[in-house]
Amino acid sequence: MIIRLENVELAYGRGWTLSGIDFSVPEGDFLAIVGPNGSGKSTLLKAILGIIKPRHGEIKRTPGIRFGYVPQSQHIDEIYPLTALDITLMGRYSLLGPLSRPSRKDRKMALECLSDVGMGHLADRPYRNLSGGQKQRTLIARALACEPRVMILDEPTNDMDIAGEAAIMDLLHHLHKEHGITVIMVSHLLNVVSGYAKNIALIIDGKITVGAVDDILSPANLTTAYGTEVRVADMEGHRIVIAGGKRC
Ligand code: ADP
Ligand code: MG
Repeated sequence: MIIRLENVELAYGRGWTLSGIDFSVPEGDFLAIVGPNGSGKSTLLKAILGIIKPRHGEIKRTPGIRFGYVPQSQHIDEIYPLTALDITLMGRYSLLGPLSRPSRKDRKMALECLSDVGMGHLADRPYRNLSGGQKQRTLIARALACEPRVMILDEPTNDMDIAGEAAIMDLLHHLHKEHGITVIMVSHLLNVVSGYAKNIALIIDGKITVGAVDDILSPANLTTAYGTEVRVADMEGHRIVIAGGKRC
């Protein structure tokens, strides 16, 4: 187990609460955290990363394990003409001692990370001139640059069209398969993650259910969770989740 959450409760002040969080993330998992906006997906990721502390319960992580984090909606200062390589190099800083500057080896490593995400040829392009998909790839390269065992991504396909969405999901699949990286990602769309994840954590109405994709994505389970008829179709190995009764 890389991460274990034991009877965790997350809360902001007296307001929003998500409790009864109890699951483990094994090494090599591809876990998707899915739920509507405001259900607590980003908060759960931040708790896993240790950025926020749970109100109750305990989160255990394998000591010394490195996380690469791609936060939700990145606000990188685009005034300075930082290149894709400059942004990727930022991922090396967590590994450098205080006051030390990135070495030639760090630059080489950052360039390799850009190549891994299909951006090697755009290393010198200013970040602000990249397309949305290219920016997201650069931020994934930045997360890879700290040589993580676990990649944590918050809605990495937001604002993308379906082709961009598929390209990012295929890239995550590749990093998971070929580099053996454990992936934990958030999405508000079941259909985006259903063809890639091994396990799903579904958050609905303050309740979290975690399990294998087949169990979570059963029509009966989803119909109960969403309170409306949900059907699950199979198209050439892709699961398609459709809510609402039959039309026409
Ligand atoms: P999601 O990522 O699923 O959209 P969030 O984890 O961002 O949901 O937020 C969960 C709930 O907590 C929401 O109701 C949100 O308004 C609230 N919330 C998020 N961040 C804070 C904060 N810093 N202080 C108070 N409430 C917050
Ligand atoms: Mg969020």
